[in-house]
Amino acid sequence: MPTPYPKEFRRDVVAVARQGDQSRAQVARSFGISESCLARWLRLADREDGAGGSASTSRLDDAAVRELLKRTKQLEQENEILRRAAVTEAPMTRGKEVFVVGGGNSAGQAAVHLSSFAARVTVLVRGHSLAESMSDYLIHEMNVRPNISIEFGCQIVDGGGSRRLEWLEIENRASGSTRRADAAAVFILIGAVSATDWLPDEIATDQWGFVLTGRKAEESPLWTHDRVPYSFETSVPGVFAVGDVRQGSVKRVASAAGEGSVAIQSCHAFLSQHPDTGAAACVSDH
Ligand SMILES: Cc1cc2nc3c(=O)[nH]c(=O)nc-3n(C[C@H](O)[C@H](O)[C@H](O)COP(=O)(O)OP(=O)(O)OC[C@H]3O[C@@H](n4cnc5c(N)ncnc54)[C@H](O)[C@@H]3O)c2cc1C
Repeated sequence: MPTPYPKEFRRDVVAVARQGDQSRAQVARSFGISESCLARWLRLADREDGAGGSASTSRLDDAAVRELLKRTKQLEQENEILRRAAVTEAPMTRGKEVFVVGGGNSAGQAAVHLSSFAARVTVLVRGHSLAESMSDYLIHEMNVRPNISIEFGCQIVDGGGSRRLEWLEIENRASGSTRRADAAAVFILIGAVSATDWLPDEIATDQWGFVLTGRKAEESPLWTHDRVPYSFETSVPGVFAVGDVRQGSVKRVASAAGEGSVAIQSCHAFLSQHPDTGAAACVSDH
């Protein structure tokens, strides 16, 4: 598959961000990327610089920045940059063959939604069952929709087209055999990415950026206090994290809301033990 953002494009966007004329949010917005994506590119560039790499530090003049913005539009038109969502794109798939990659609830919901528009929706799953990863009601819903089919034990190994996606090559993981299939679109729902790049280093996260809380925060070297963290407390005393962003959370609305209600209790407990901190936090907020 083509890299969504060509290397020279990433390098030039990093150069614009490093110039510091605009905030990171403004730079990200101009080039149609998320702030966390820009933060990641900057970190990578810093690392490349440190390793004697070629990340650009030269200043781009106004003309070069205008060219880069034009290039952003071009990339979007060429469909090299893929940032589409199953919900908003579904009507565009009317009468077409589309694929959904993933075996979780998000993939199931996307497939069901797309099946109201597309001629056929094929769900590609690496494993051999949906039972552990998808809710029963979604499995049932997919089974009763005649234009949804599910292929287990497979993965996409290639794809292409002239100006937009036209075909995919799908590999059977057990036999290694491949087949080529017409495809107007592919929706990839293989897991969430945490948007925690902005957090200070004092808040411990795992390698994927999910925030450590409670016992996990205590096990982190960043927790240096002689007490056990409160439920949902992070490695910074008095800072709590709940819901999907928390490492090990059950990715459900009810559990996120439940965790929130428990964390409120922890906040009260923390403030009663540390009345000065609470007062100081209030003052610094204003
Ligand atoms: C396709 C799909 C289907 C799902 N179906 C179900 C279902 O049927 N039943 C179920 O129980 N769960 C379902 N879930 C899971 C459920 O949506 C989540 O578990 C739940 O929303 C988690 O709540 P949260 O508050 O932790 O995170 P979110 O609901 O994601 O809320 C986080 C909020 O923080 C905002 N935010 C992020 N970064 C910042 C920042 N730097 N500053 C300010 N705001 C920020 C985001 O914009 C967002 O509004 C589904 C999830 C997906 C993706």
